[in-house]
Amino acid sequence: MDFGEMQIDVVSGGNFWIDGGNIFGVVPKVLWARLCPPDESNRIFLETNCTVVRANGRVVLIDTGYGSKATTQQKRNFRLQDGLPIVENLEIKGIRPTDIDFVILTHLHFDHAGGCTFRRDDGQTKPTFPNAVHVVQRIEWEDANADLPELAGAYNSEDFRSIADASLFRFVDGEEEVVPGVTVRLTGGHTRGHQVVYLRSGDNCVVCPADLCPLASHVHTPWTMAYDQFPLTTRIQKHQILLEAANEQWVVLFDHDSETKAALLAPDEKKTFAPTKVLVV
Ligand SMILES: [Zn+2]
Repeated sequence: MDFGEMQIDVVSGGNFWIDGGNIFGVVPKVLWARLCPPDESNRIFLETNCTVVRANGRVVLIDTGYGSKATTQQKRNFRLQDGLPIVENLEIKGIRPTDIDFVILTHLHFDHAGGCTFRRDDGQTKPTFPNAVHVVQRIEWEDANADLPELAGAYNSEDFRSIADASLFRFVDGEEEVVPGVTVRLTGGHTRGHQVVYLRSGDNCVVCPADLCPLASHVHTPWTMAYDQFPLTTRIQKHQILLEAANEQWVVLFDHDSETKAALLAPDEKKTFAPTKVLVV
């Protein structure tokens, strides 16, 4: 998608299958199963849509998928793809790992941060994008490293430790323009340090609400994931973001939807919002 001075592409960081109840939280299965038919283990198909922004000679990658470090059991449970999907799919677009100048991590869960490190043959974990400044909210970093019993299993330090060791992190407090036209903003909700990304060109904007609105069906305000640490914050933040996007006719990106990756929205009496136009990115 050409967007002002920017070229925006959505690239897969790997697809996977995950329990439908995890993704739809309090939504009854009879409702979500019509939209996302589960397999025999109650899993639904998700993408990890990563966004590449090329502007003024800079390359920004938003999220990195789940990477290649999963155990055999995780690979089986989530039906993960082999290899390092984000790197392979960037290569198809002519982008090498060394070309990436910034990696924005919306949060540090494995399906977003897993691809930004890989394990070498000698067992050491190294950054996948060695020239990139990795942008994450400071609170997200603190929570991911706090070893809190209430967050047990939420984060995998191998996903980000070697990036810190290589001094490749930039910690943000709240809102910051990463490069001209690319702004991150703390929202909380899904995790305490979850951030969203705005891509702006003139009066136009593309917004990446990340895991506040993972699938197009989550545009309905009460539809949130069981994974959300602060569900009410997710609902409040998501509603504000989508309302502004609908009013201003901004493009909304859906980070886990395999079909509707980008769309324009309008208010809808039943579903809060509805996609009016699905865009190819
Ligand atoms: Zn996610």
